[in-house]
Amino acid sequence: MRNEFLPFSRPCLSAEDADSVREVLASGWVTTGPKAALFEDRFREAVGAGGAVALASGTAGLHLALKALDVGPGDDVVTPSMTWVSAVNLIVLAGARPVFADVERDSLMVSAETLEGCLSDRTKAIVPVHFAGAPLDMDAMRSLGSRRGIPIVEDAAHALGARRRGVPVGSRGSAVFSFHPSKNITTGEGGMLCTDDEKLLERVRRLKFHGLGKDAYDRQSQGRAPLAEVLEPGFKYNMTDIAAALGLSQLRRLAEFSARRRELALLYLERLADIEEILPLLPPDSNAEHAWHLFVVRLDINKAGLSRDVFMERLRAVNIGTGLHFKAVHLHRYYREHLPIPPGSLPNTEWNSERICSLPLFPDMTEEDVGDVVAAIKETLKR
Ligand SMILES: *Cc1c(COP(=O)(O)O)cnc(C)c1O
Repeated sequence: MRNEFLPFSRPCLSAEDADSVREVLASGWVTTGPKAALFEDRFREAVGAGGAVALASGTAGLHLALKALDVGPGDDVVTPSMTWVSAVNLIVLAGARPVFADVERDSLMVSAETLEGCLSDRTKAIVPVHFAGAPLDMDAMRSLGSRRGIPIVEDAAHALGARRRGVPVGSRGSAVFSFHPSKNITTGEGGMLCTDDEKLLERVRRLKFHGLGKDAYDRQSQGRAPLAEVLEPGFKYNMTDIAAALGLSQLRRLAEFSARRRELALLYLERLADIEEILPLLPPDSNAEHAWHLFVVRLDINKAGLSRDVFMERLRAVNIGTGLHFKAVHLHRYYREHLPIPPGSLPNTEWNSERICSLPLFPDMTEEDVGDVVAAIKETLKR
């Protein structure tokens, strides 16, 4: 057994990151300013997006996107239940109704066909998720969206660096990224909304800072009293320069992080291949460049003769951390009570929700760490 606990995720922070943050502190300007603007530019270039807005979190980005699309009472928003709670909570908070699309059993992603079956006259937006870092095939979804006049906001929290047919996630349409410490790059907390829709971009820029249309830095650099007026009530979702400086130095290492994640994921695939109780997700097809945010497996609970929760506890007991991405949103208490969905309506989501588990994956892991995880799994299943 390992002496040291192996977490399922750990941010990869360097002395260079620390220098980058220290420089901001020394400058005396710590909130949104030149670093946030530069981070937006560099990120926009990296992803090939039309425009990018740096925000306090990925959740803030999803919130602003839904707000900018005027999602409100009487509207439906179609999204998977096999996702993080962010988008669904925001849909409910906006007074709208989440309509859950089931996912494919082995990719955990929605398809255009499944989405189409969930649309109605009430549908105001679609929020698909690039799960675990695998790039969705957006072509069919985009043509569905434009045929029905329904905007799509991609939850790309897992998918920084992912590409399909060479096209990066975020370069077309509207997509929201997250820089939470578990994600592929971190700013502590933070997010980025990318869009090629000028109107949406303008509205999000305005809404992110009190609805003023200008942020603190604009006013300072203009060297005059704040003349900006509230154009519509907005939020306080701007990213600080402290976070942006960290984002800039993390972004410089994105390619290195992605390559390492990929190596480790391929090693897992190879070493887990002969464990019949462990079912990885579908490997990426030949058109996909996977961002490997998570390494998700499903436990065959019948063959293993134990529940996923016990499996995770046993791994924890031998110093292997795991994650749960995700317990289906409709199975959380609030949603069970307020938006009950008959069991069996989302069969693939429910099947996975009981079996899913994320193994440790982060760039600083070693091949020995992967070996420890695989050995611990074999040991756990033998007992
Ligand atoms: C992390 C995550 C988010 C939210 O990002 P935050 O930056 O934590 O607000 C949204 N959706 C998914 C699928 C995520 O994993």
